[in-house]
Amino acid sequence: MPHMITDACAQCGLCVDVCPISAISPGDPIYVIDDTCCDFMECVVECPEEAIVPIPDWEKPVAVSDKEVAS
Ligand code: SF4
Ligand code: SF4
Repeated sequence: MPHMITDACAQCGLCVDVCPISAISPGDPIYVIDDTCCDFMECVVECPEEAIVPIPDWEKPVAVSDKEVAS
């Protein structure tokens, strides 16, 4: 599930270095996670402020079946 950064962010930058796909960058004023975020969770563990949380209402994209494509 993609994650987001809340207002608890202290702008320390620790999460940036641990994200394996470089999905986190400095924002204004708090850091932001872009929509390439996957489920690695390294940043969640690293954040000293516990400011990184799952996006609450995110729904996993539904794959389109071959049958639906053919009809
Ligand atoms: S590790 Fe946490 S407090 Fe530090 S910049 Fe990232 S989200 Fe903000
Ligand atoms: S959850 Fe994973 S992919 Fe998303 S920002 Fe954190 S480390 Fe990067």
